[in-house]
Amino acid sequence: MIIQWEVACQACSREGHDSINCSWVYTRCRKPSYNGIRKLLRSSQPTSLGKKCFTCQHPTCNGFQWFEEQLIEWVLHQLNILMEMVVLGVGQPITGSKHSHGEIPHVRSQTVKGRES
Ligand SMILES: [Zn+2]
Ligand SMILES: [Zn+2]
Repeated sequence: MIIQWEVACQACSREGHDSINCSWVYTRCRKPSYNGIRKLLRSSQPTSLGKKCFTCQHPTCNGFQWFEEQLIEWVLHQLNILMEMVVLGVGQPITGSKHSHGEIPHVRSQTVKGRES
């Protein structure tokens, strides 16, 4: 049985959004001195034809990264956040919001509701 309720993005091939809403199409370049914006493109090199890559739009930056590399980094980053959440959730309660970027689900208030009686 094939259920197709998610849109697969043409830009990054991930599901749940289309290329218009894709957060991968434009990403900030890593090189801090240029402050460039990278765009997700497909390689036109014969050796890697059609392979997805990021290239910086800044005229003199030449920032470049393969999409797969970036994806792996991103996945590892997400895993780190998850691990951090798990550690924090088990450890002491968090005071204040240490993480200003991204959304972190409410893991800190694990108030145990009274057992059924
Ligand atoms: Zn996408
Ligand atoms: Zn750049």
